[in-house]
Amino acid sequence: MKVLITGITGFAGSHLAEYILNAHKDVEVSGIVRWRSRLENVRHLLGKVRLHEADLKDMVSVKAVLAAVRPDRIFHLAAQSYVPASWRLPAETFATNAIGQINLFESCRALRLNPRIHVAGSSEEYGMVYPDEIPMKETNPLRPLSPYAVSKVAQDLLAFQYHRSYGMRIVRTRGFNHTGPRRGEVFVTSCFAKQIAEVELGKREAVISVGNLDAKRDFTDVRDVVRAYWLTLEKGKPGEVYNIGSGQAHSIKEVLDILLSMSRVRMEVRVDPERLRPSDVPILLADSTKFHKLTGWEPRIPLRKTLEDLLNYWRGTLAAEDTALAAARPAKHAAAAEAGGRPEKGARAVQRREKKKPARTR
Ligand code: NDP
Repeated sequence: MKVLITGITGFAGSHLAEYILNAHKDVEVSGIVRWRSRLENVRHLLGKVRLHEADLKDMVSVKAVLAAVRPDRIFHLAAQSYVPASWRLPAETFATNAIGQINLFESCRALRLNPRIHVAGSSEEYGMVYPDEIPMKETNPLRPLSPYAVSKVAQDLLAFQYHRSYGMRIVRTRGFNHTGPRRGEVFVTSCFAKQIAEVELGKREAVISVGNLDAKRDFTDVRDVVRAYWLTLEKGKPGEVYNIGSGQAHSIKEVLDILLSMSRVRMEVRVDPERLRPSDVPILLADSTKFHKLTGWEPRIPLRKTLEDLLNYWRGTLAAEDTALAAARPAKHAAAAEAGGRPEKGARAVQRREKKKPARTR
């Protein structure tokens, strides 16, 4: 079987690729990358996955990848996934998420491919939720509160429409927050964990900067979520939508406290008004009964273990950066020493000429 993952270089996409390679050895995994994608999340998978260059906003490139791979299944995870950025870049967010998905679907149609497609929606689609609507079922009204959330609603409804209109085998999920190793540093759990690791390594003063600590979120380990994504295309019914979450809400303050309890040094917590969003969803809590009944899925990894792995990920990543810097330093010094501490006359002239050149943009 051939699987294509859009967003393979991202947080969930890299874990999904890893899960499939480990648990389903007969599957050939391909992924879409952009020419400037950072590959650190998939570096350990290079040679095991096939990477194809495309940008969701460019249908020509998307179609070319689909024609080359001809996948049996597509996990569509690529997105502008960061809520705060969507306030600053609403049109870009909509173009990537909604128009990008149209490009993917239309490419399938143009090539007469009808793979099973998973569309990764988000709990943010529910947006404003009233107290008597918690935990949220799939039938809850969608009242999105950010440009990102609106773009995910668009993806969700387009997926439904393409299924109804063209019989495409699309299954949607609405994932609640997931976290774990490799989570982007701009997201709250990772942002806290990275700051703690930086303080431990003496890279910043012992102050951790936070936003709204009252918001409550349903956190699931990313490794449990990607297992659910696989089951979505194994057992999910095309046209249907399924919530994926742990069914437990934790305040951001609780998450912070767990991480601080694992810290090797004491630190002060300081609220940064810059980190507060224009309108934050107060609580997101999943009712995943529909998905559980269909697949038997439930999360296996407790939040504490997830956060511990995330903190250790940052400790390891930052320490490795330090080691790489330290390794680079003596070589530079040695080179300078070899040249007698000062560059030779001719070399100095070259340096002067180089300085006068305009800075390269790429
Ligand atoms: P990330 O931000 O970590 O990854 C996003 C991925 O999308 C990257 O691989 C990125 O590639 C790719 N991408 C972005 N724009 C384009 C484009 N124009 N063309 C091609 N690829 C592009 O997101 P996550 O892994 O956290 O999320 C995956 C999906 O799950 C998203 O759809 C998100 O909305 C959804 N989701 C996530 C939740 C979470 O808690 N993580 C919760 C609910 C839903 P590049 O490396 O080039 O930037």
